[in-house]
Amino acid sequence: MSQALAADGVRVRAPGKLNLFFEVGGVQDDGYHDVASAYQAVSLYEDVWASPSDEFTVAVSGTVDLSGVPADDRNLAIRAARLVAQRIGHTGGVHLDIVKHVPVAGGMGGGSADAAAALVACDALWGAELGPAELHKLAARLGADVPFALMGGTAVGTGRGDELSRALAKGRFDWVVVPSGTGLSTPEVYRHLDELRARHVINAAGRAPAVDPTVLQALRAGDPVALAEHTRNDLQVAALSLRPDLREILELGEESGALTGLVSGSGPTLAFLTVDAESALELQITLSAAGYEALHVHGPVAGARVVP
Ligand code: ATP
Repeated sequence: MSQALAADGVRVRAPGKLNLFFEVGGVQDDGYHDVASAYQAVSLYEDVWASPSDEFTVAVSGTVDLSGVPADDRNLAIRAARLVAQRIGHTGGVHLDIVKHVPVAGGMGGGSADAAAALVACDALWGAELGPAELHKLAARLGADVPFALMGGTAVGTGRGDELSRALAKGRFDWVVVPSGTGLSTPEVYRHLDELRARHVINAAGRAPAVDPTVLQALRAGDPVALAEHTRNDLQVAALSLRPDLREILELGEESGALTGLVSGSGPTLAFLTVDAESALELQITLSAAGYEALHVHGPVAGARVVP
């Protein structure tokens, strides 16, 4: 985008994500877990408008419960904006208007999407032209899921989840997402998983985490039935132990036509994979009739992009 066009403001759209596969290894010396994740960006978006300002300010609105979203310097989008300013020596500030559609603390990376959107928006607003590699570096400093929100599509993440490589995915995959009320804190879910493993309730894999090749094969083939057989989320056992009520919804979804249901990331959002758009619509209707909020989304979709 030219600087003249950017002068009044820039709008960027960034997607939420689902983890189709998530293996959690041991805790590393830095306190983080080594993970292997297959991410897919889905059509539930965050919109961020960036406009010129002397200060760094943020306003948050949207269709989801916004309690818990900080409207100050703790907001991940403001931290992203400050990082770009610092990197290029920008002396002013920016005002960010965030419109959220991704459930907060839901395991779908909404805050990470806001941060990725703010990186792209500030880059365009200030004419920085940092380029994908530099934006990726800044993203990785903000959080493990931020680089994927920049990249979008389908990808494998290793390390903390931020060492990304693109995965080929044919066609589209239809999902029904059930947000499930009050969020779960990601650190709390990891802590609970560690406790369960320490008590030998479940065992950690004895090798470095890796995405099951059959998952990548199913994605390449555009085959939701094969994908459903191999999805997995190591955080699910901990999330379900903290929120046992989710089991009932998982069972209902699986009995009502979903190929499989899984907890998204650290939860509590549930994601049901369906065979096509029509069955997703039917499942959405069944779950809504049972009193649950259910959203039909599809993936893969693009990462954080300026909206002309
Ligand atoms: P992840 O799985 O990446 O940890 P999540 O999808 O479970 O994240 P988010 O909605 O990204 O959850 O937010 C987690 C926490 O981050 C929130 O509870 C909130 O305190 C904080 N936060 C900071 N900035 C934002 C933002 N822009 N939007 C939402 N939450 C934010």
